[in-house]
Amino acid sequence: MRNDELLALDRAHVWHPYGPMPGRTDPLVVASASGVRLRLAEPAEGQDELIDGMSSWWSAVHGYNHPVLNEAARGQLDRMSHVMFGGLTHEPAVRLAARLVEITPEPLRHVFLSDSGSVAVEVAAKMCLQYWRSAGRPAKRRLLTWRGGYHGDTWQPMSVCDPEGGMHELWSGVLPEQVFVDAPPTAYEESYARLLRDAIARHADELAAVIVEPVVQGAGGMRFHSPAYLRVLREACDAHDVLLVFDEIATGFGRTGELFAAGHAGIAPDVMCVGKALTGGYLSMAATLCTSRVADGISRGEVPVLAHGPTFMGNPLASAIALASLDLLLGQDWRGEVRRIETGLREGLSEVSAIPGVRDVRVLGAIGVVQLDHDVDVPAATRAAVREGVWLRPFRDLIYTMPPFVTDDEDVARICAGVRAAAHAG
Ligand code: PMP
Repeated sequence: MRNDELLALDRAHVWHPYGPMPGRTDPLVVASASGVRLRLAEPAEGQDELIDGMSSWWSAVHGYNHPVLNEAARGQLDRMSHVMFGGLTHEPAVRLAARLVEITPEPLRHVFLSDSGSVAVEVAAKMCLQYWRSAGRPAKRRLLTWRGGYHGDTWQPMSVCDPEGGMHELWSGVLPEQVFVDAPPTAYEESYARLLRDAIARHADELAAVIVEPVVQGAGGMRFHSPAYLRVLREACDAHDVLLVFDEIATGFGRTGELFAAGHAGIAPDVMCVGKALTGGYLSMAATLCTSRVADGISRGEVPVLAHGPTFMGNPLASAIALASLDLLLGQDWRGEVRRIETGLREGLSEVSAIPGVRDVRVLGAIGVVQLDHDVDVPAATRAAVREGVWLRPFRDLIYTMPPFVTDDEDVARICAGVRAAAHAG
């Protein structure tokens, strides 16, 4: 199909994330992707391929078209690509669940395999609410979170997203009303720790759980915070009979320099969500893990089952690819690779703070963030990065990158050049 025809159909019929219909802008058309490069159907700003600085939103950690993942997909495709999970089971899902239990913090033991991050968070909320209902304490049905978070676009996740993010106003009266505390400061401050403790203590009778993104608040603002706050949450939750949920959908599988961000604090949550990089970005799959305490609690209730069962639960193709992706990740010095990218980002972004309009530059693991003192001119910043041969997706006041772990030093440097150009233009 010709590019202009394809774009006309796209504009007329296809919703894009947070987009209007009919569409107003022309997205770039990707013809194929390999390694860290997206090949465009038609050149843009003089470039026919772009280094992906986004890992397709935290997911494509091994890059695209990876021979090992392709092989895993092909092998599974010849056996079965999907089969229902009700009353049936299969090796890829069982092995994946066991592997996840093996690599996540110790008391997490039971795995619910779902089809997207948002659903994994819905399931986490259901687990927590149902746990307290089963314990004869149905009033414990609210969630506490901090501002500046993002947990997905379905109802429970939206209700714990940053209340300044727009969704709350639109859906006020429809979304469950949760308890919010201020976003955590970057460094440890005893006064903020006290605020967390007090809020949990004050609302304990109505709280099912605290849910947070550990160490990095992603799509809500790309902010980092001290892992010490996670220990404060753990202690306060234990002291006041509140469950603790970590949403590791963005941070999981090495992105922050620990396999899971909980590792920075040396603690375990009661419930944990993973997704995105789980399949190396190949297919949509996510998981919610919980402890035996949570699972047993649910089982003792009047309704002793977790009432959730998506059609594509435990999809064998996604499970087989996820297993291969985990083997690939853990079979290499992933920590060394993330550290190498961290060093490259620190070097490459070191001069960005001198650019007029830049408020802050921060790097953690394979995540680099430039925050402006104004909202980014997204089309201008995107074009400037594309001119450098780099794909970035700025939002609000942020230009940021989280490259695939296989990005070599030269390409990390080019990504940084793209971020710099975007910061100048934005
Ligand atoms: N939680 C976090 C921390 C996320 O970053 C995201 C996705 N950006 C989600 C949940 C939702 O995942 P999905 O888009 O797969 O539904």
